[in-house]
Amino acid sequence: MEVNPKYNLEECPICHGAGIVMHEGGWNVQVECTDCSAHTVYVEYENDAQKAEAEEQVVRLWNLGKVVRTEIGE
Ligand SMILES: [Zn+2]
Repeated sequence: MEVNPKYNLEECPICHGAGIVMHEGGWNVQVECTDCSAHTVYVEYENDAQKAEAEEQVVRLWNLGKVVRTEIGE
């Protein structure tokens, strides 16, 4: 089973950079911008079915522009 699905990620709502689906610790996932580090909330999962749902959910949030900006020293 392929574990590398392609998602329809829009560009970053803040800086129009590229977003990537990031898993952390094997139990949660978010979409994060590779340019400005804006990100969606984390969605947790406990199994493969939930994992797929969690990925869809963060992708949807990202595409809706529901992202959190992290303040990085400018
Ligand atoms: Zn960005």
